[in-house]
Parts: sequence; structure tokens; C-alpha cells
Amino acid sequence: MFDTHVHTVFSSDSDMSIESAKKSAEGKGISFIITEHMDLNFPKEDLFRFDVGRYFNEYSGWRGDNLLLGIELGMKKDCIEDARKLIENNAFDYVIGSVHLVENKDLYYPDYYEGKTKHEAYLKYLQVMLDDLKRFDFIDSLGHIDYIARYGKFEDRELYYKDFSDIIDEIFVKLIQNDKCLELNTRRFNNEDSIKNMIDVYKRFGELGGKYITVGSDAHDPSAIGANFKCAEEVARICNLKIVYFKDRAKEYDKNF
Ligand SMILES: [Zn+2]
Ligand SMILES: [Zn+2]
Repeated sequence: MFDTHVHTVFSSDSDMSIESAKKSAEGKGISFIITEHMDLNFPKEDLFRFDVGRYFNEYSGWRGDNLLLGIELGMKKDCIEDARKLIENNAFDYVIGSVHLVENKDLYYPDYYEGKTKHEAYLKYLQVMLDDLKRFDFIDSLGHIDYIARYGKFEDRELYYKDFSDIIDEIFVKLIQNDKCLELNTRRFNNEDSIKNMIDVYKRFGELGGKYITVGSDAHDPSAIGANFKCAEEVARICNLKIVYFKDRAKEYDKNF
């Protein structure tokens, strides 16, 4: 099985070496795709961007059947053409499209949530995601749809399908029309309630005609690689979705799923 979402030292918030990532993955019997953060036009200079030339220079020798080279691209409408060129001009195996910023504010920090109800904050986030998906037609999979549920500054941060069913349906229809995958991010899967709520979300993806998901831990340290993957397999089975990964920008079907 592939962990399709791993950050090493080229990501400004990770100091995991490729050696330690490989060692950890091998120990767990899994393969992985490195997906470094690239948030073009990120409001703080030098954060979440990396030197793509150096990335390929330093990592190409490590590339093989069990270690692929991808990118996690921050989707933001003011950088679409630069992002498109970046993807077209570089030989990534896999491209995750993620929303990390809304109103040019990092969802990690409280500013974005100030003066908003939870419903307003989450709805705006999902609207931006839908809007980005209409433009970013060169990604392979939509990253962590529940990203906001990690950091929302509310007593109950969870993302409930029932509260946002219309917009989530629109997002899924767009993904399906454009033949894109949905990532199942296992970062929040050490919590039973989160798993339950995510099953509601991913089940709906299947009901609307979605077939393929990628599974990623979003690891920033070796121990997190492949975390909660047994649970992800179970969620995929319950939701009737097939786990895939990408190599050379093409969908690969894991023999086991
Ligand atoms: Zn992300
Ligand atoms: Zn990530």
C-alpha cells in the first residue's frame, strides 16, 4: 500500500530526512510518495515553497517503485497560471491539490475564524475549494477535505456532511466530472467520532459516482508514515471506494485493493 502524502525537509514545516522516511516505510512494509508543500503566493515569504530543481536533483536517485516524487500544491486563485506551469514543466509522479488558505489567511491560525460563526467559516472554506477545483484542473487528487476540522477555533471542530451537504455534493460532482480522486487523509483517524463523520462524507462520494481515493497520512515525521492505514482500508471498504496511487501522473491500482 502507498502512503501518498508525506512531507520531508523540502517542506518548510518538516525536518524529516528522506533516509528516515524510507526506513520507517520499509519497516512498516509500505511504499510512499513524497509530496512537499508548495503554496505559491503564501502570505509569509519563504514559507511553504521549495526549490523544485534541487528537489529533483537530490531525490531522483531515490526514486523507484516504492518511493515516488510528488507535490502538495496549495490551490489559490491568484497563482493558477504559475501553478499550472510548475506542474507542466516538472516530472512529478503525483499532484495533491489542497486548500490551506481562505481570504489569504492560514486556516491554522485564529484570524480567519474571528467574527465568523462555525457555519460561515466552514461554508466559505468549502466554497473556495469548489471554486479552486473548477480552475485547478491539473491536480490528481483533492487533499484533506477535512483540513479545517483540524484547526477550526470552535468547541466542536468536526466537519459534518449533513451541515454542508449541498456544497460537499457540488465538490464531489466536480471531482467526478473531471476524473479526479479524493484523498482520504488519516491524520484525524485516531478519533472515533472523526472516523464516523468522515465515513458519512466518503460514503456520499461513492453514492454520487466517485470510485477512487488516495490514502495519505500527511506525515511530517517518520513515525506518522502509514498511520491509521488499517482504519483507512476499512473506511474504503465500508464506502465501496477503491484505493489507488499515482505514478508518472497515471492512476495505479494497488493489487491488494
Ligand atoms: Zn495540506
Ligand atoms: Zn500535507
